[in-house]
Amino acid sequence: MVEHEKGKMENKRISIPKRGDEALLFSWPWENLNNFKYLLYGPIAGKVLYSIYKEKTIKNDDTWCLHILILFGLRALVHQLWSTYSNMLFLNRAHRINEQGVEFSQIDAEWHWDNFLILEAILAYLLCLSFPLLANLPIWDLRGVLICLILHIGISEPLYYWMHRLLHFPSLFRKYHWLHHSSKVISPFTAGHASFLERLLLCVVIGIPTLGTAFIGHGSVGLIYCYLLVFDFLLCLGHSNVEVLPGSLFQAIPLLKYLIYTPTYHSLHHMDMGTNFCLFMPVYDKLWNTINMNTWTLHKEISSRTYSRIPDFVFLVHGVDIMSGMHAPFVFRSFSSIPFRVKPFLFPMWPYTFIVMLVMWAKSRTFLFSFYNLRGRLHQTWTVPRFGFQYFLPFAAEGINTQIEEAILKADRIGVKVLSLAALNKNEGLNGGGKRFTDKHPDLRVRVVHGNTLTAAAILNEIPKDVDEVFLTGATSKLGRAIALYLARRKVKVLMLTLSKERFLKIQEEAPVDCQKYLVQVTKYQAAKHCKTWIIGKWTTPRQQYHAPSGTHFHQFVVPPIIPFRRDCKYGKLAAMRLPEDVEGLGSCEYTMERGVVHACHAGGVVHLLEGWKHHEVGAIDVDQIDVVWEAALRHGLKPL
Ligand SMILES: [Zn+2]
Ligand SMILES: [Zn+2]
Repeated sequence: MVEHEKGKMENKRISIPKRGDEALLFSWPWENLNNFKYLLYGPIAGKVLYSIYKEKTIKNDDTWCLHILILFGLRALVHQLWSTYSNMLFLNRAHRINEQGVEFSQIDAEWHWDNFLILEAILAYLLCLSFPLLANLPIWDLRGVLICLILHIGISEPLYYWMHRLLHFPSLFRKYHWLHHSSKVISPFTAGHASFLERLLLCVVIGIPTLGTAFIGHGSVGLIYCYLLVFDFLLCLGHSNVEVLPGSLFQAIPLLKYLIYTPTYHSLHHMDMGTNFCLFMPVYDKLWNTINMNTWTLHKEISSRTYSRIPDFVFLVHGVDIMSGMHAPFVFRSFSSIPFRVKPFLFPMWPYTFIVMLVMWAKSRTFLFSFYNLRGRLHQTWTVPRFGFQYFLPFAAEGINTQIEEAILKADRIGVKVLSLAALNKNEGLNGGGKRFTDKHPDLRVRVVHGNTLTAAAILNEIPKDVDEVFLTGATSKLGRAIALYLARRKVKVLMLTLSKERFLKIQEEAPVDCQKYLVQVTKYQAAKHCKTWIIGKWTTPRQQYHAPSGTHFHQFVVPPIIPFRRDCKYGKLAAMRLPEDVEGLGSCEYTMERGVVHACHAGGVVHLLEGWKHHEVGAIDVDQIDVVWEAALRHGLKPL
């Protein structure tokens, strides 16, 4: 079993009922409200605001409303912080229980994981209105802690255990509990992902110790805060998919393993569904003989693990800017699962991210950011802890190259097969498109790839076959040169915008003699005023775009992309490809790319791996390889957009 668990720990497949066939009280009453559901907090917030407005301070009688808002904000924060931790692969990759990735479909399904917070806030509000005792609890009562613990252990735990076992009866499971078990890889948000009825039942479990203590006469505000926050914390811990409790803990205090469950413990429940039913205390599984026999060996194995699976492919990226730095799965998983756009909620977080950037500059090394699987191979994205603007600071260049070099050497040491350099990590001026590293370390086993051959192919394949003249800016760059030479061979006239006669002639000489005449140097944008195919490889101002005739198609390989200023023209997107359909565990978007789409240079590295090519792809683009790489990409199921 342990051997099996090391590899692919799959949860059992669940058959999902059709929409509309759902049982009574399965759906959330505000399901159709989407994000407007937060308006349901309105009456509570309204009462607080009204009190402040009327009395200039919050009235004593209304502080309970404020407590509800604060407490439920903190409960959401507990879930968010656990999600952040669970997505910090660089911290916890060795202790992940299910090594698969959370996919887009699961992120969408769990999007409204916080529905239960609204439900419980409304119930708390109604209870406080109905029982003035609850609205006037003291801040703290020490005796209440003991009573609450007795009620929790004596009533809530066994009650939950039996409710949970009943929910696993086939008829009830099919009606309600399947939803919670439909998440293939559990995450802290899975904890909140359940049907309406189940969360109503959980309100009873939570209500008995908290309200019970209050009605006995020893309730307190502090106790309610502590109980609910610890409750959520433990629920998230069980669903974190990372083993955080050391095996030595249970060796030192053997009794403890019956008092507190572990992430492995609850993960096993999600995997086999016939054992480990308890809420937090395995003693009840022990009592009714439902403990999974592998629980402790597996826990020991995962918690003491010091290795993680070696990736076959690494895409080495860097931060673009501070704003997009927040587009990480460990910041907001849901935000990173959609293409990056600047959103209002990012602005207040900007100063903190700026500080993180400074700390990363001073201290951080390249780290693991995200991963997915393709045909049994593990693909990871590693991030150089630098942002776009730092690549333009002359004094920062050496530091960046050191970071990249260390990443390449690490990849080589651990046995990565292909490492693809993203964006500015392969900048000509910085390291000659990666050549600096392969020259310095001629014995590298890892293949270093800039992937730009596929970028060139993707741009060239966008251009209609009947085009006989194009205008090219950034014409003497790595991509510009390859595009010009390729098109000249196809007997397409290329107007190459460059002020350097010398660089132009050097490229022209590379073309076959009979094709050289198709390469023409131009020095002004005006020269292209009759050409309707523009290939932009250099930032182009609105004024410069104005010289294009109406109906021009702007293809581009410039980062960042140009502003689409002309309404009468078409603008292409950055060269990108869709990953094959059998990609697994993909749950984040690559910068502004759609779901499942990656930059062409990323795709280029993937093709290099799938083909098992033994050469490095660094420095100048080999024009002969453009068609070879393109055909290989299509053969492996990568698709142009
Ligand atoms: Zn669960
Ligand atoms: Zn269950």
